[in-house]
Amino acid sequence: MLNSKKIVDLRSDTITKPCQAMRQRMAEAEVGDDVYGEDPTVNELEEKCAKLFGKEAALFVTSGTMANLLSILAHTRGYGRIIMGADAHIQKWEGGGYARFGHVSAALVEQEKDGTISIEKIRKVACHGDFEVPQTTLICLENTHNFTGGKALTRAYMKEVRKVADEFGMKIHVDGARIYNAAVKLNVPIKELVAEADSVTMCFSKGLGAPVGSAIMGSKDFIDRARYDRKALGGGWRQAGVLASAALYGLENAPKTISEDHRRAEHLATKINELKPDDFHVDLDGMTNMVMVECLGRFTSIQLEKELEKNGILSFMYDEKRVRLVVHRCIDDEDIEHVIEVFRQL
Ligand SMILES: *Cc1c(COP(=O)(O)O)cnc(C)c1O
Repeated sequence: MLNSKKIVDLRSDTITKPCQAMRQRMAEAEVGDDVYGEDPTVNELEEKCAKLFGKEAALFVTSGTMANLLSILAHTRGYGRIIMGADAHIQKWEGGGYARFGHVSAALVEQEKDGTISIEKIRKVACHGDFEVPQTTLICLENTHNFTGGKALTRAYMKEVRKVADEFGMKIHVDGARIYNAAVKLNVPIKELVAEADSVTMCFSKGLGAPVGSAIMGSKDFIDRARYDRKALGGGWRQAGVLASAALYGLENAPKTISEDHRRAEHLATKINELKPDDFHVDLDGMTNMVMVECLGRFTSIQLEKELEKNGILSFMYDEKRVRLVVHRCIDDEDIEHVIEVFRQL
C-alpha cells in the first residue's frame, strides 16, 4: 500500500489551512475598526474586489451564505419570489435563510447538466405578478455550479439570462463562491463574466485558500443596503483586516494556484475515465476543480467512498451514484498519483 499513512482530503476546497506565507501576511496586517470603515486592509480588499469584478462597490463578509442572504435581502426587501435551480447551494445548504430572514418564496427549476437553468424554464416561471401570483423579482445563478460538478457557466449564457430578466423586470444575482474557477476555466476576465449580473459573491475560503470570508459586489446603493443588513445580522466586525489580508494573499496567488488545481483535476478525471470506463465516468465538459465520479454499476457511491477511505482518501458521497473529489491548494501531484493508483487497484 503506497502512502497509506498520509490522508489525501478531497472532500472540499474549504478544508485548506493557511500556509506559512499567508499566516505571515495575517500577522503583519494593518488593522482598524471596520464598523467605522477604518480598517485599511479591509478597505483595500473591497476596492480590489470592486475593480476585479467591474462593479461600483464591494463588501467583505463572513461567509458565502451570508453573502447570498445579504444579496437577496438587498434586492428584494422581502417582496416577491426568486427563481433558482432546484439544486442551488442557496436552496440546499444555506438553512433556508432566503425564506426565514428574507421573507421571499422561491420558484425552483431543474437545472441542466451543465449547471444552467434553461431560458425556456425561466420564462415558464417568470411572472409580472397579479393579485394571486407572486412577482418574480430576482434570478439566482451559481457559477461554478456546485451540485452538477463545478461546471462553469459561460458569458454567452449570462447574456441570454439578462434578456429574459429585463423582459420581466428581474435582477440577476450570481452565487460566485467559485467564480474565480469559472473565469480561469473559460479564460475570461471576471468582470466580463459577471457584466450581466446585478450582484455577485465570491468565497475566499474555497479555492483561494483563506481561512474565512467572502465578498459581495454590486452597485454602490446595493452594497450600502447590504452593509446595513450585515450589521443587523451581527456581521459587523472590527479588526477584520487580519482576515482580509489572508483573502488578499489568496487573490494574489489565485492565477497560479487555481489553474494548477484545474490541471490536476483534469488529469485525475481523464485517468479515471481511461482506467475504469466500465465502472466510473467523469464528465469533463465545463469541469473546474471538482471531479464528480459517477458510479456506473460495479460500485455504489457509498462503496466507492469507503474504498477510497480505506486507502487514506477522503471524498464526499454526493448522491446514490456520485462521489465528489475536490482538488485544492493543499493537494499536490503526488497526492493525485496516489488517488489514480487506488482507482487502478479497485
Ligand atoms: C460554499 C458555497 C457557498 C457558501 O459558502 P459558506 O462560506 O460555506 O457559507 C455558497 N455557494 C456555493 C456554490 C458554495 O459552494
